[in-house]
Amino acid sequence: MKRVSLLLIFACLWTAGAHAKQPAKAPVKKTCDSEIVLKLSSATTSQGSLLLAEIAGAKPSQEFSAEWDGRLIPLWRENPASPTLHALLGVDLEKPPGRYEWKLSWSTADGKPLACSLPITVRAGKFPTEHLTVEKQFVQPDPEQQKRAEEDQKKMRAIYDTVTPEVLWKGKFVMPLKGVTTGGNFGRRRVLNGEARSPHAGVDFPAAAGTPVYAAQSGKVVLAENLYYSGNTVVIDHGFGIYTLYAHLSEINVHAGEPVETSAEIGKVGATGRVTGPHLHWGLTIDHARVNALQIVQRQP
Ligand SMILES: [Zn+2]
Repeated sequence: MKRVSLLLIFACLWTAGAHAKQPAKAPVKKTCDSEIVLKLSSATTSQGSLLLAEIAGAKPSQEFSAEWDGRLIPLWRENPASPTLHALLGVDLEKPPGRYEWKLSWSTADGKPLACSLPITVRAGKFPTEHLTVEKQFVQPDPEQQKRAEEDQKKMRAIYDTVTPEVLWKGKFVMPLKGVTTGGNFGRRRVLNGEARSPHAGVDFPAAAGTPVYAAQSGKVVLAENLYYSGNTVVIDHGFGIYTLYAHLSEINVHAGEPVETSAEIGKVGATGRVTGPHLHWGLTIDHARVNALQIVQRQP
């Protein structure tokens, strides 16, 4: 049943198109052979966005393999007998604008290989760029800090390389702070002393230190510790390559390995890590793609 409820969220993606500011996006479909139909919530998207993909007419006994962004992406069914497979396609924040394909391959009952694809146009996201001049010691971590940051990065990569082949979510995604409807800074590009830095991959919510932070969705805590840049950090695995991250917490209330429910308090807003003031940094990663976390909440009914 829990899978059905997530579908409610995504059902809205089909019709809602982009949230505010962006041009309307229409769903597309393509009949591959007499039975298999590919559907996408939109054929045009932008950097840092989410797309819902569907494969209709898929016999429960048939094995499909779907590829997006050079990776095999997980597919799920609402129930084992359902003829429809679902997938979420994340368009990474830095994916170069252009025309790409969502590719599908499968075999007929007698072993004949078949393939089909749908084109996806990725447009540049509209992200602000900040030019800053600061003293060198604020830009350049010392060798020890550098080493720590690299170890953190390795740890994060290992987490995102793991795809739990299980639906750990239940129902809708919610905002990680109470009474908040939007956040900022997603995709912001910073140029420090003339040198471009990695874009800001999360959504920032300014909030007082000590404000409770809630799990946006149920899942399993896979990281709960202090990291060099993001300070006290929690990462939750929601299954099928979907992860949310909560950073700069003043305190953490959960442990790695623990299951969490939607809206469970996981910590409090703080200013730990490399920040200038208290706020919550919230990230969403789908199969390695860094996407705007607000989209998974705002596009539901
Ligand atoms: Zn941030």
